[in-house]
Amino acid sequence: MPSFLIDGQWTDGSGSRRGAVLNPATGEQIGEVPFAEIADLDRALAAAQKGFEIWRKTSAYDRSKILRRAADLTRERAESIAQLITREQGKPLSEARMEAGGLGDHIDWYAEEGRRAYGRVIPPRQYGARQIVLREAVGPVAAFSPWNFPTGQLVRKVAGALAAGCSIIAKAPEETPSSCIELIRAFHDAGVPAGVVNLVFGVPAEISEHLIASPIIRKVSFTGSVPVGRHLGALAARHVKRATMELGGHAPFIVCDDVDVTAAARLGAGLKFRNGGQVCASPTRFYVQDSVFDAFLGSFVEAAKALKVGDGAVEGTQMGPLAHARRVDAIEGFVRDAVEAGADLAYGAERPGNSGFFHAPAVLANVPDKARLMRDEPFGPIAAVNRFDRLENVIAQANALPFGLAAFAFTSSVARATQLGDELESGMVSINHFGLAAPETPFGGIKDSGHGSEGGSEGLDAYLSTKFVSQIGA
Ligand code: NAD
Repeated sequence: MPSFLIDGQWTDGSGSRRGAVLNPATGEQIGEVPFAEIADLDRALAAAQKGFEIWRKTSAYDRSKILRRAADLTRERAESIAQLITREQGKPLSEARMEAGGLGDHIDWYAEEGRRAYGRVIPPRQYGARQIVLREAVGPVAAFSPWNFPTGQLVRKVAGALAAGCSIIAKAPEETPSSCIELIRAFHDAGVPAGVVNLVFGVPAEISEHLIASPIIRKVSFTGSVPVGRHLGALAARHVKRATMELGGHAPFIVCDDVDVTAAARLGAGLKFRNGGQVCASPTRFYVQDSVFDAFLGSFVEAAKALKVGDGAVEGTQMGPLAHARRVDAIEGFVRDAVEAGADLAYGAERPGNSGFFHAPAVLANVPDKARLMRDEPFGPIAAVNRFDRLENVIAQANALPFGLAAFAFTSSVARATQLGDELESGMVSINHFGLAAPETPFGGIKDSGHGSEGGSEGLDAYLSTKFVSQIGA
């Protein structure tokens, strides 16, 4: 089955280059993905231009109907999409089912929100004049989505762009192509006109450089690491393209002494080790108030030990392998460096099994600030658990890094909760629960974690431009 969708046609493109697709639970090759050549990208650009002319003139009402049909198709196909996610990305089937089962919600949200892209009427200075603000689709979009939530990341970009009236060329992750192809197929099968949605894979740097430089592309959306985001942001700026950048994070998780510590530790471990920690909003720095530190650490280690680590395709697995071999090496490096810096390894030195890209959940306590774990994003199953004395001090520590994506805090005091909500420098703050990433709420960071939001009405705004029309009768 071909992997690219260009101008409504499924194709493997014009070249012969291919990339290997691996099962991270075994390390074995299970397929391959074609790489786009410049000629394929040029066809996709021409298609996106043509598709945009059709789609921007399709009413929001009709676009919404097609998107809702796509949402229903993802629901019908959710189980097979989940199986593909687990096979290529490694996460447990239970998590893959949540990802695939939620796709329809994201598409439905945008399908409805696209019907509410309201403008404004501004009172004129001259009688009889009209001053109107229109919200218009920004134009063809180039989108780059990562492998950690192969469909969950892609759906926000495609549904947001389409709901606003934009066309899109998506470069989805080469590590996990199959579920992405199935998601795009749902839009295609739902009746999205040819050229409106295009999908390619290839060498990321070749594709981004060619697409972002093209005058056809009017908007760039990227989810991935800070260094790549910096590079693509510079490319977008050079060509004066709007950009949404959803980059890395290093979330603090603050536990005050006035909460149920066991419950906070279980929730924290669940959040940390979900998707093997390969989540941009994953907590990494756990700051626990002095008097409850030992109790928290004990419960957290217990929760980490209890996790069933294994092949995500086996029912009952709670943490799968990491998505590729380089992440295992990276996590081993973080553990080694933290121990050398003086941290206590509370749990998790072992690499489970002899095959596949596994790392045990790792818990390090009393980690000095000089350890890399305290400043670089680990993007894996590793947690630093440290103590704090006063709220002011921990807020300063939480804000000390250049990242600002997500922050978590636990307290039963309304005053403390309000202070944390006000003072944490983060695009998202979740207090006393995990409350992030619903389709109707904005998801995005500040500082080095990027700019712009996906989700919520802000997610639609990212694909709209503002036009001011001033008119008066002749
Ligand atoms: P990486 O920096 O090599 O790649 C990150 C992503 O960017 C990948 O999807 C890759 O295909 C893409 N990419 C790389 N160079 C590109 C280019 N020139 N043009 C367009 N796309 C490009 O890192 P990796 O080893 O694949 O992933 C690990 C790092 O990526 C982590 O440290 C994490 O910070 C980041 N990451 C973040 C998210 C997120 O949700 N924000 C998701 C996945 C990865």
